[in-house]
Amino acid sequence: MSEYKSDLLIIGSGPAGYTAGIYAARAGISSLLVSGAQKGGQLILSSEVENFPGFADPITGYDLMERIRQQAQKIGVHIIDDVITEVDFFDHPFVCNSEAGNCYTSRAIIIATGASVKWLGLPSEQKYIGHGVSSCATCDGFFFSGKEVAVVGGGNTAVEEALYLANFVEKVYLIHRRHSLNAEHIMQKRLFENRKIIIMWNNIIEEVLGNDDPLEVTGIKIRNIKTDRVQKLAVSGLFVAIGHHPNTELFRRYLRLDGGGYIATNGACGETDIKGVYAAGDVCNPYRQAIIAAGCGARSAMEAIKYL
Ligand code: NDP
Repeated sequence: MSEYKSDLLIIGSGPAGYTAGIYAARAGISSLLVSGAQKGGQLILSSEVENFPGFADPITGYDLMERIRQQAQKIGVHIIDDVITEVDFFDHPFVCNSEAGNCYTSRAIIIATGASVKWLGLPSEQKYIGHGVSSCATCDGFFFSGKEVAVVGGGNTAVEEALYLANFVEKVYLIHRRHSLNAEHIMQKRLFENRKIIIMWNNIIEEVLGNDDPLEVTGIKIRNIKTDRVQKLAVSGLFVAIGHHPNTELFRRYLRLDGGGYIATNGACGETDIKGVYAAGDVCNPYRQAIIAAGCGARSAMEAIKYL
C-alpha cells in the first residue's frame, strides 16, 4: 500500500493512455499511468493490425502495444500495473484508490479506460463462456482447429474474427441479423471470397446448445427473422462479436455521459465537465480505432498540460 502524488494521473494503458503518457513525459509533467487489468487494452487481443501508420507489414495487436509501452517507458512514463477501483472527483486534488490498496492523488486526470465486450445476454451463452463461447478468436480460436464454429455480428470485429478463424477451423458460420454487413469494404471482400465462411443472413441466435459434463458447446439454435425458420448448427464454438460498451462505471457519479453512454467531452475527446478531468479513446467515442485513440490521448495530454 503506497501513496502516490503527481500532477497528472492517466487511467488506462491502451493507445490513448500510453500516448497521453508520452506527451506528458515529453512536456516534463510529473505523471503516473495506472495500466488497468488488461495491460495494453483491447488491442492485445487483435490478430493483425494493418491500418496503424508506420508498419508496411501487418503487426499483431499484442506486438504493437508492447512497442508503444516500451516507447512510453523509454521516454520516461512511470507505469504502475494496478487497477483503479474508486475515484473522488468532488475534491481537488483528485483522489483515486486502487485494487492493490494504493492511493493516487493528482491535480489532473486523463480517463482512458476503453471499452468492454457486449454479450448477447442469453442464459445459455453465459453458461458456456470459457467452455466454447468466447469473445476473442485470437485468444481462443486455436482450440477449435479443424472444427466448425460460429461468429455472431456484422461489423468489422465479426468479419475480422471470421477471417481469422477460417485460417484453421473447418467451417465458420457468420450469423447476422441483417442482410448486409457494416464492416469495411476490403474486409467484406475478403469475407465473401473465403470459401470456408458461410453467412447466415437475417438470423438471430436463440440458444447455445451443449453438454453439462464436460461443460461444452455442441451447437447453436438460430432463427431466421424473415421466415421464422429455426435451425440447429452443430458447432463447437461461438464467438460473440456484436460490439462493445464504454468502461464508464467508475465515473458515472461525477461525469455526464452522452446518448451512447460515452463520457461527454468537448468534441470527440478531451475536456469533460469537470475542470482538470479529460477523457480519451473508446471511453468517450465509438470509433474503436487505435490511431484515433492515440490521437485522443495526445489531445487530452496537450489540454491537461495547458491546464497544469
Ligand atoms: P459494430 O457496432 O460496428 O457492429 C456490431 C454488429 O453486431 C452489428 O452488425 C450489429 O448489428 C450486431 N449486433 C449488435 N447487437 C446485436 C445483438 N444483440 N444480436 C445480434 N447482433 C447484434 O461493432 P464492432 O465491434 O464490429 O466495431 C466497432 C468499431 O470498431 C467500428 O467502428 C469498427 O469499424 C471498429 N473496428 C475496426 C477494426 C479495423 O479497423 N480493423 C476491427 C474491429 C473493429 P446491427 O447493425 O443490426 O445493430
